[in-house]
Amino acid sequence: MDAIHEKLKVIAPATGEQIGEIEETPISKVGLFYHKGRTAFLSWSNLPIEERLRYLRRLKDIMVTQMEDTASIIATDTGKVVTEALIADIMPTLDSIDHICKHANKILKRKKVTTPILLVGKKSFIEYMPRGVVLVISPWNYPLQLAMVPMISALATGNTVILKPSEVTPLVGKCIEDLFQKAGFPEGVVQFAHGGKEVGAAFTNGKPDYIFFTGSVRTGKIIQEIAAKELIPTTLELGGKDPMIVFKDAHLERAAKGAAWAAFTNSGQVCMSAERLYVEKNVYPQFISLLKKEILSLRQGTDANADVGSMTFPAQIQIVKEQLEDAIQNGAVLETGIPPEEWKNDMFLPLTLVTNVNHQMKVIQEESFGPLLPVIPFETEEEAVNLANDTVYGLNASVWSSDRQKARRVASKLISGGVVINDAIITVANHGLPFGGAKQSGIGRYHGDTGLKIFCHEKSIIEDTGRKKSEIHWYPYKEKYPLFLTLFKSYFNERRNWLQFAKSYLSILKKS
Ligand code: NAD
Repeated sequence: MDAIHEKLKVIAPATGEQIGEIEETPISKVGLFYHKGRTAFLSWSNLPIEERLRYLRRLKDIMVTQMEDTASIIATDTGKVVTEALIADIMPTLDSIDHICKHANKILKRKKVTTPILLVGKKSFIEYMPRGVVLVISPWNYPLQLAMVPMISALATGNTVILKPSEVTPLVGKCIEDLFQKAGFPEGVVQFAHGGKEVGAAFTNGKPDYIFFTGSVRTGKIIQEIAAKELIPTTLELGGKDPMIVFKDAHLERAAKGAAWAAFTNSGQVCMSAERLYVEKNVYPQFISLLKKEILSLRQGTDANADVGSMTFPAQIQIVKEQLEDAIQNGAVLETGIPPEEWKNDMFLPLTLVTNVNHQMKVIQEESFGPLLPVIPFETEEEAVNLANDTVYGLNASVWSSDRQKARRVASKLISGGVVINDAIITVANHGLPFGGAKQSGIGRYHGDTGLKIFCHEKSIIEDTGRKKSEIHWYPYKEKYPLFLTLFKSYFNERRNWLQFAKSYLSILKKS
């Protein structure tokens, strides 16, 4: 059934109040969206890159002017505290525009590369050609940044974009639409499809030229299956179960403060949050006590001075609850927080630290995406690495130690898209670094040079002056085989025989 009159209710999670309604995009319009996107692509992709970047700069100026309004919309729609809306959603988006405006020209420029001597007389180049209409599907936890950064990257490279923002945070989706509208992008270059998973599925089936998806592993697999049928290229940015490893020689107070932040920022609803903590045995009791103190000092709320906001998505609470119940039933001990049966019926979950957990528990193996941090002691470096690598995920990780060699050694051994030493999460904040996951945390990378190149066909071009009558590798082959043997043996030998190479080359040329 067409959803033409369907409305998405906007509920402020922290208060439970309905604060608006947003019209869903009717599924019958999918074809029209792609038609508009493809038409706009013809002119947008042909604009000089500097022209396209001018639109992005205008977008940035508007975002800077409206920074407080946008932060307030994000905070209301997600329940996160306004400081986090600013530092973790708005700032990275602005920084990505800056980075792209500064580097895109160079990254996307036609590049000359060396040509091997066997192809003598030719020149080789790489060109970057936009793909067409890019479908971006985004989640609710950082609803601005995770929608806008891929959009901006795709637009800078000359693609047109359809965004399907999360239905859980529709107000932010609408806010992004307003920002782009104010920036005055030409008709059809950026379009917005509001709605839930049915709308997402309809647009995925609409044959985009590229899909950039950020969300759960479950949805990522569904999208990849549909994309495979049409051989549509994708980037999948999926879930995580990120380990934090604390060695006894770390600055323990800093590490405890860092752990509290990395585990509970955005109420733990972060794909890169510290979801498992491994602490070296000798300092384990001391570290737990420092961390407890830190956690107990945090204040949950909605005002500007609060540290931790509410959960965003009600269904996530059940997942966290079940994991904790499972852990407690199997002997886990609550160091902070209260048993799940005593939880209040609201969106603020207790900040929970659990010990006495084992590696088979759900709380260790499955993504929690909530304010729940299990801790496990370890004895050796090797054990820490093995434990950290022992889940299906590999998005991010952190290693805490004052021994730089050891920290780097461990970082290199972790199967992870990113690792931070003596801090956490922040690889995502340097737009010059590639971002993405290993194992089930995703396929592909964005940010940095890669983040622009993925939205392009990387085209190889070889150029010949066209003045010679023939080429050595063309017909006729008559009497060429032994000469080619001599040519390649003289060329690929450890010690190149240039004289023999030149002789056989000229002989083949004569026969061509
Ligand atoms: P989700 O997979 O439920 O939804 C993400 C988006 O996909 C939403 O817009 C949703 O409407 C859409 N969608 C759902 N089903 C669909 C379908 N069948 N076809 C097309 N679209 C569909 O994820 P979520 O709950 O919004 O986000 C939380 C998850 O995202 C967590 O697992 C988290 O780890 C992950 N995440 C990953 C990153 C990353 O960069 N790797 C960043 C943030 C969040």
